[in-house]
Amino acid sequence: MQAKDRLRREYSSFNDLSRQFRMYDEQSIDSLLDDRLRIHMNPNGSDDMSLQRDDCYTPIYPAAHPQSPLLLLRQHNFKLRAYYSNVGNCVQCNKRIRFGVPSLRCRDCPLRCHTECSSQLTVNCIPQPLASTKRGHLSDYVPHVAPMVPALIVHCVTEIEARGLEQEGLYRVSSTRDKVKRLRHKLLRGKATPHLGDKDTHTLCCCVKDFLRSLERPLIPMYHRPDFVLATQLSDPLAVEEQLYLAMVDLPQAHRDTLAYLMLHWQRIAESPAVKMSINNIAVVFAPTLFDDVDLNLSNIVLWQQVLRVLLLQSAGFWAQFLAVEPPLPASSLDDDEWKRENYHSSSAHWQSVKTYFRSMVNLAD
Ligand SMILES: [Zn+2]
Ligand SMILES: [Zn+2]
Repeated sequence: MQAKDRLRREYSSFNDLSRQFRMYDEQSIDSLLDDRLRIHMNPNGSDDMSLQRDDCYTPIYPAAHPQSPLLLLRQHNFKLRAYYSNVGNCVQCNKRIRFGVPSLRCRDCPLRCHTECSSQLTVNCIPQPLASTKRGHLSDYVPHVAPMVPALIVHCVTEIEARGLEQEGLYRVSSTRDKVKRLRHKLLRGKATPHLGDKDTHTLCCCVKDFLRSLERPLIPMYHRPDFVLATQLSDPLAVEEQLYLAMVDLPQAHRDTLAYLMLHWQRIAESPAVKMSINNIAVVFAPTLFDDVDLNLSNIVLWQQVLRVLLLQSAGFWAQFLAVEPPLPASSLDDDEWKRENYHSSSAHWQSVKTYFRSMVNLAD
């Protein structure tokens, strides 16, 4: 409780609010102090509410509309090189990258494309997670820099949104199990970022749902659930937002960033009349997936749906504040020849061949 009080004080203090803004590195602190960018969560609509209550939570963040593009765009760090081995297809046009013809490869993520296709790229640059054999927790799939959202989610969401959110029943209509499994395998285990242009939109949606369901700890872990439930019991919108902010700050970063990213995506889906997925429908579809299903019963499901509705009703600016874009660590760009994981495998393969060589020398000496 003391920690929460401290956080509340920190968030209310002007200096720390300024620190919150540094994530928006393209905007100066001065521009953020502009009154037009302030959001006063004030049910009475009077402007001086925050002046009357010095100790109250006053969220100040740049206004973001659900329709505005995600803040996740990170520039690829391209290297031009000709390959003399099979490097697969171009992520943009899905045509083969020809033998010996110079093509582009990103140093930070496993993306490859033709030089002429680079200007049309819509795929985000999501650095690979550090090589690990352990898989199952959300943190095993996220990049080592913020925003920590798994590439699978970002690539599927970007492709779904690039199609204009015109298809009815996104996340409600199902796809075949085989298609989802194949796509999931490509996105999680593939050597290069796959081309998603030929995938059915419902398969992309099901892939996101299936991934969230497969996590060892759900997106909103059990221990954090009471913090979110508490927010739904408050009546003052400002108090709700303050409680949600505290609940979000307490979440592990991978969970916080992914939840914020998905909230912005689902808000855009709810805003599109053609999709016919209201906030209520989205809450019904995702409530069992986002929370722990250890004690799955009707009253819990109703409660989780209520929590999800409250989350979806928060402003886009509230969610966007959690999605800071950090540049990739220099370590991920050190290797100039292959991206990190390939390098990891190739160096171990190299060591294996050295060991085999010495073993054969010993055998010869015998
Ligand atoms: Zn191409
Ligand atoms: Zn990249």
